[in-house]
Amino acid sequence: MKGGRHVFRWCPHCRTEMARRTEGGELRPVCPSCGFVQYLNPAPGAGVILLREDRVCLVRRKFEPRAGQWSLPTGFMEWDETSGETAVREAREETGLEVELTGLHAVESGILPPDIPVLVVFYRARETGGLLVAGDDAADVGFYRPDEPPGPVAFAAHRLVLARLAEELNRKGTGDHG
Ligand SMILES: [Zn+2]
Repeated sequence: MKGGRHVFRWCPHCRTEMARRTEGGELRPVCPSCGFVQYLNPAPGAGVILLREDRVCLVRRKFEPRAGQWSLPTGFMEWDETSGETAVREAREETGLEVELTGLHAVESGILPPDIPVLVVFYRARETGGLLVAGDDAADVGFYRPDEPPGPVAFAAHRLVLARLAEELNRKGTGDHG
């Protein structure tokens, strides 16, 4: 069954031992007593692509997973947020900068180590205020060429976004828009 350690063994509502049933073409954990079905879904997050000329804002992670490695400023959506609100909040919390979103950049799926499937909405953003300072979740923050991050980049989805961004900026740099 999909979900590994995230599959409930005991119903979180009535504490009955969970069973299995095919629901909508998928074998899912179900509670034989109260009927609760555990739908396993990726966790959505959001973040920003914030540029200063040809450099992009990266933060060094303070916490696991991948503490000490670098990532774009991103985080999980809170229950009552839109993805755009998450992106603005995470930028503020991790970088100290106030930002305004200017468009959708990319949507990528990935695995947050060790085994949490995520979907991350990356927005383009521009600075509107604040001061660049590493926030509570960050050990460091700065602007770097996307193809020259100051250390290992933590997540495959972020590496992919940075690689594409580097190509995009290189094309602009050479005046070749083909
Ligand atoms: Zn139950």
